Amino acid sequence: LGLIPTLRKYVQDFEEKTKIRALFETRGKEHRLSSAMEAAIYRLIQEALTNAAKHAYPTYVLVEITYQAQLVKIVVQDNGLGFKPELFQQKSKDHGHFGLIGMRERVELLEGRMEIESAENQGTKIVIHIPTNVE
Ligand code: ATP
Ligand code: MG
Repeated sequence: LGLIPTLRKYVQDFEEKTKIRALFETRGKEHRLSSAMEAAIYRLIQEALTNAAKHAYPTYVLVEITYQAQLVKIVVQDNGLGFKPELFQQKSKDHGHFGLIGMRERVELLEGRMEIESAENQGTKIVIHIPTNVE
């Protein structure tokens, strides 16, 4: 199964399990990526959704994948509690939080970039761009 059907199922299961309304959308012309890239994207979304459910107490989450010519854009958004991303940006000595660091490393390996917008009580939006023209 390709990335999109796999994600659609994952998001649906997430909604059933957590009772958080979960939307999955794709934009642009869907196409297969390398299996390494698809696996990485799946894990990125898995961690972002897990964080939303575990930390944010949102009433909804959105996962959006946009296919562009040389780029795939991934958005994972929740309307929960929000947090201060700068506190979790780098490998800090107050450990025990590996999810965001792992996401950032995964994105960097793919020569992409990840931005986290979050504010107290305004939820969190994670935007990832991954170039698809490099293999
Ligand atoms: P791990 O992922 O290693 O099991 P973790 O989820 O605590 O642990 P990270 O995924 O790195 O670690 O997240 C770091 C911290 O950032 C979390 O502990 C939480 O405080 C905050 N956080 C992450 N995502 C969200 C979110 N969507 N909403 C609110 N807070 C978040
Ligand atoms: Mg986590």
